[in-house]
Amino acid sequence: MTESEARRIAVIGGGVAGLATARHIVDGARAARRRVSVTVFEKNDAPGGHLRTIRDGDWQLEWGPNGFLDNEPATLRLVERLDLNGALLRSSDAARKRFLLSGGRLQELPSSPPAFIKTGLLSPLAKLRVACEFLVRKRAGLDDPNPAPEADETIYDFGVRRLGREFAEVFLDPMVKGVFGGDARELSLAAAFPRMVELERDHGGLFKALIAISKQKKKAADAGPSGTLHSFRGGMAALIDALVGSLDGDDDAEVRTSAPVTGLTRDDAGWTVTTDDASHGPFDAVVDASPAHEAAGHAPGPELRELIGGIDYSPMAVVTLGFASDDVGHDVDGFGHLIPTREGHRLLGALWTSSIFSDRAAGGHVLIRAMAGGPRDPHILDLDDDALVALAVAELTPVLDLRSMPVRSWVIRHPHAIAQYRPGHLRRLKDLDQALAAWPGLVLTGSSYRGISVNYCAKEAEIAAARILDHLASAPAAAEGGV
Ligand SMILES: Cc1cc2nc3c(=O)[nH]c(=O)nc-3n(C[C@H](O)[C@H](O)[C@H](O)COP(=O)(O)OP(=O)(O)OC[C@H]3O[C@@H](n4cnc5c(N)ncnc54)[C@H](O)[C@@H]3O)c2cc1C
Repeated sequence: MTESEARRIAVIGGGVAGLATARHIVDGARAARRRVSVTVFEKNDAPGGHLRTIRDGDWQLEWGPNGFLDNEPATLRLVERLDLNGALLRSSDAARKRFLLSGGRLQELPSSPPAFIKTGLLSPLAKLRVACEFLVRKRAGLDDPNPAPEADETIYDFGVRRLGREFAEVFLDPMVKGVFGGDARELSLAAAFPRMVELERDHGGLFKALIAISKQKKKAADAGPSGTLHSFRGGMAALIDALVGSLDGDDDAEVRTSAPVTGLTRDDAGWTVTTDDASHGPFDAVVDASPAHEAAGHAPGPELRELIGGIDYSPMAVVTLGFASDDVGHDVDGFGHLIPTREGHRLLGALWTSSIFSDRAAGGHVLIRAMAGGPRDPHILDLDDDALVALAVAELTPVLDLRSMPVRSWVIRHPHAIAQYRPGHLRRLKDLDQALAAWPGLVLTGSSYRGISVNYCAKEAEIAAARILDHLASAPAAAEGGV
């Protein structure tokens, strides 16, 4: 192969992670004056994965993510690269107000220390227990970056230990439902919220950390934009449309849809990707950006398959309901509400979508997005659409003072909604890195591994692309052959 011949890279999975990685590989290669040819293999007949926007008359709703926070420069860099800044849509100021269900009533989450002191969400004794966080000693073993499952504290246990049981049940339990569709008792704090572990490790506790950080407040304020939720005019699909458009318009990239990868092998000639109907390759390198439950099926070698297959996902049903504004008695000027397990509801919470982004509902209407399921209630997906809508309406009616049935409803089922980082997840990632050493040129990325949000996908896409380009710079080219 001559210097001018393109190195071939396969990307498995055309969600935001795979598409962004493909974009960065092509851009990075071009900047380094190297030639690449990148093929994205996407299982479905349309790319995007969970990022999909449904436009139905005047209504606009999301299949998966509602938006992303603007505190991650990698996403903003991607937006800039795709020339999408003009389409960015900032959430309303009202969306800063978030609510919790407590004793069947909505109460605003306190957003400042004085509001926390006054909140009725916690008993006086529980507030006292929170104040005692200052006195709780640092846990041993925080220096181990990859703890074994038995040494890896859950989010719930961390909350109980540092802030008390009531705090964990009232605040942490619903927050984990809102972020992960998961159970705080089953997720690793170190993998899900690594910053919390850092704060305890470096400062001895959360209050001590807050004091130290507030002394550096000026520095922190200068460090970058704060986290405000953003989407795009046209919804989150705008990001996918722009990524696909830019790759399709690039001679060095191709996005193939209806191309489910079933096998991945490597020999002296390079990597071969097998889809339903054909073998493709050889490739010099492969990025696997399909979710773990899929990647485990085609990963090369039993060790990788077992390690990847151990990462499971929560099931979730998303029920989006459109109401005439007059039929919603409660003020829905805010982000939405979460529901602690002890309230005994099947819904995990609801986003007040049309208050977050005003262009989502038909005029004179509001759009509410209820979430149900999670690891404690997987069989909710067995209910038919009418039953899911009836369940959501029945549980929301006393909370939001609903006065009639919705005028429109949409049900979306996610059998594999969000990756659940269980205790030992970081140890698993370390073992995965070691196992990957036997498979040069293979990089895993996407929300199964180091962060479940769009922001993490964007950040990891940059890292994955850099690793592929490093590999190409150091490894001999794969044998010639068509894809
Ligand atoms: C209901 C819900 C709400 C969410 N809300 C938010 C939010 O508000 N903010 C946020 O940041 N994140 C949110 N998320 C998470 C967000 O959706 C993920 O971060 C993001 O979509 C992950 O992208 P990905 O590319 O890693 O995976 P995916 O979106 O799952 O894409 C993977 C792609 O791989 C393809 N694929 C799978 N198997 C194969 C195969 N064998 N061969 C070829 N292709 C294959 C799939 O078809 C898919 O297109 C939410 C998720 C859900 C489900």
